[in-house]
Amino acid sequence: MNRPYNFSAGPAAIPEEVLQRAASEMLDWHGSGMGVMEMSHRGKEFISIYEQAEADLRELLAVPPEFKILFMQGGGLAENAIVPLNLSRAATVDFVVTGSWSQKSRKEAAKYAAEVHTAASGEASGFTTLPDPAGWQLSRGASYVHICSNETIHGVEFHELPDLKSLGSEAPLVIDFSSHVASRPVDWSRVGLAFGGAQKNIGPAGLTMVIVRDDLLGHALSACPSAFDYRVVADNHSMYNTPPTWGIYMAGLTFQWLKKQREGALSGVAAMEARNIAKARLLYDFIDASPFYVNKVAANCRSRMNIPFFLQDESRNDAFLAGAKARGLLQLKGHKSVGGMRASIYNAIPLAGVQALVDYMQEFERQQA
Ligand code: PMP
Repeated sequence: MNRPYNFSAGPAAIPEEVLQRAASEMLDWHGSGMGVMEMSHRGKEFISIYEQAEADLRELLAVPPEFKILFMQGGGLAENAIVPLNLSRAATVDFVVTGSWSQKSRKEAAKYAAEVHTAASGEASGFTTLPDPAGWQLSRGASYVHICSNETIHGVEFHELPDLKSLGSEAPLVIDFSSHVASRPVDWSRVGLAFGGAQKNIGPAGLTMVIVRDDLLGHALSACPSAFDYRVVADNHSMYNTPPTWGIYMAGLTFQWLKKQREGALSGVAAMEARNIAKARLLYDFIDASPFYVNKVAANCRSRMNIPFFLQDESRNDAFLAGAKARGLLQLKGHKSVGGMRASIYNAIPLAGVQALVDYMQEFERQQA
């Protein structure tokens, strides 16, 4: 089947092979007589699915043994509350604000932390640049420092995570990796906690991944709901309450797909990174060379996952989107707060999908000339 290319920012495209496999197992998983959605989360069938998914994610992201992988619910926005409920210890938390998502995180944390301090902000540039870590005003004794390592709406990405120690901060770094998880390796030596929803690079909405260093467990505020207390979730292997079983199963299928991906000598997430760099370069190079389209983000911090762009003549937006849809290029409309277009090119979009988009953009430009 020739499916369209789907550039949605999330919920987003899932590899066809994963969807086919899920379809074939929908009514009867491995001869158990049950579909995955119908299984007890405590039965041996689901436990095997869960354990495999966790082990594969650990392997793919090279998560060190001193980190727990938690499968939770509530998405990135719930984590905006759950992180300070667990980590703030009612002290100051530092935020680096680089776009809509970190702005939202800062606002929510203010409900739980004693003080929220903005260590740096890219707002003056309209969130088209990332503030240089060397200039961040980090607080002494902060309980953590929050960044959004890829801003899905503004299209800015930290290609390298900041090394807080070298900036004079002992605080753990919290990253919101919702929209770049599994698109590139993670340097865990710089991270205390990472969180992200699954619905962009991993699978259906409903599963939230939290990867947290052991020493950060067990410090929740007394008001923290038990189901959101990382210590409780970890001690119960993410089964204190019923976990999102279908989401975990689908994530597991994506992890198996990821493990098979190759680019030259690279495999898994390293292969995805190489492919994602090539995909992003193809689209940015085309946009930069064209007088018809523009991307406003500084070249050194352009997202490899979410590429917002504008037609110089915005009166042609509707025609552009209609033509794209007719070509099987779906969900290219930009976020309402930014306007224009946005191509989200997560792992499930192959280079051929980006090429098809570039071909269409070129043709549209010619037609309009
Ligand atoms: N953080 C980032 C970077 C996101 O892109 C999103 C969703 N687009 C969220 C947080 C919020 O996630 P959710 O809708 O799953 O709560």
